Amino acid sequence: MPKIAIIGAGFSGLTFANLLVGKADVTVFEKSRGGGGRLCTRRAEPYFFDHGAPFFTAKTQPFKGYLRHMIEAGVLRSWDAHFVQIDGQTSLRKSDSSAGSALYVGVPGMSAIAKYLAVNMDVKTNTKIVKIERQKTWRLWDENGAVYGEYDWVVSTAPAPQTAELFPQQFAEYGAFSFVNTLGCLGLLLGFPSRLDLDFDIAQITNADLALAVVNSQKPERHGGTSLVVHSSEKFARDNLETNSDIILQHLLAEVERILVCDAEVAEHRVLHRWKYAGAPKQVNGRALIDPRICLGACGDWCFGGSVQDAFTSAHSLATAMHPFLRT
Ligand SMILES: Cc1cc2nc3c(=O)[nH]c(=O)nc-3n(C[C@H](O)[C@H](O)[C@H](O)COP(=O)(O)OP(=O)(O)OC[C@H]3O[C@@H](n4cnc5c(N)ncnc54)[C@H](O)[C@@H]3O)c2cc1C
Repeated sequence: MPKIAIIGAGFSGLTFANLLVGKADVTVFEKSRGGGGRLCTRRAEPYFFDHGAPFFTAKTQPFKGYLRHMIEAGVLRSWDAHFVQIDGQTSLRKSDSSAGSALYVGVPGMSAIAKYLAVNMDVKTNTKIVKIERQKTWRLWDENGAVYGEYDWVVSTAPAPQTAELFPQQFAEYGAFSFVNTLGCLGLLLGFPSRLDLDFDIAQITNADLALAVVNSQKPERHGGTSLVVHSSEKFARDNLETNSDIILQHLLAEVERILVCDAEVAEHRVLHRWKYAGAPKQVNGRALIDPRICLGACGDWCFGGSVQDAFTSAHSLATAMHPFLRT
């Protein structure tokens, strides 16, 4: 079987690895301590925060089909959350009992999804790939100088700017990297000593520096103290990605108090998380990127948009495009 090195153990990388079971011998390289990428859960006992994607939806049939086995395995649950929409300028609220389409969450945290997808996979964590080189086959270097090889194919699922740094310019699709406009997000993780008196599980906020507030501890099968995850607007993140953490934290806390009408100052756990790459705008002509001439491929949510479903679609498209080349 052909040997394939996959860079990144996020949803795209692990999905791609799963789609190749029985067709290729796969090794996944992940720079972090664990897999999951932006589908992650931070523990700060007694608090738990899904500080990346708080939930996701499934609209296409192939993605719904793919999720079925995770639902049956008890790794994924739908969340019947109570929604409100809040105008951040006027504080006017429009209550909505649900999101309109099913919201999925990993249980007991979003990171459970990657743990499930990584079972029986060869995943090398704490391994940041900094260089790839091809003679007849590919070799990869990590930041400590360790070399991994020989691989027939390399597939990167790292965000577009990071993949552009790793890939040679002769990659036939190299030009596609510069068209991806990644979007940032500043996340505020708040842990409260007692229950919060809030009239929602999820608040979508417009006209403000905040975009979303999620009562994380209200999700199914969550244990631990009351935890609130708040996301900044994309514009606020773009303007403040390098601003001092204390200044951002104080500003976002004040906005939480003003817009959500709650006593955020009593939060005993307050942490800011900076996401340089949180998502990407919808790509009109989305596709996975492949160059069979030099046996390189790239996928990731950014190929199609910025959602978990886009991550699936990109991995699925690349696996389909690669199948004819894996037969030899
Ligand atoms: C704050 C926030 C809110 C979000 N909200 C939603 C939402 O409501 N709904 C939704 O559908 N989606 C949402 N998303 C987006 C969703 O999380 C992503 O679309 C999805 O998780 C992307 O998966 P991926 O595998 O393509 O990328 P990633 O999860 O980014 O995975 C890439 C992996 O590659 C690893 N990596 C990178 N470079 C290297 C290297 N050189 N060597 C080794 N490993 C490397 C990274 O550590 C990472 O694990 C949100 C994301 C964030 C951050």
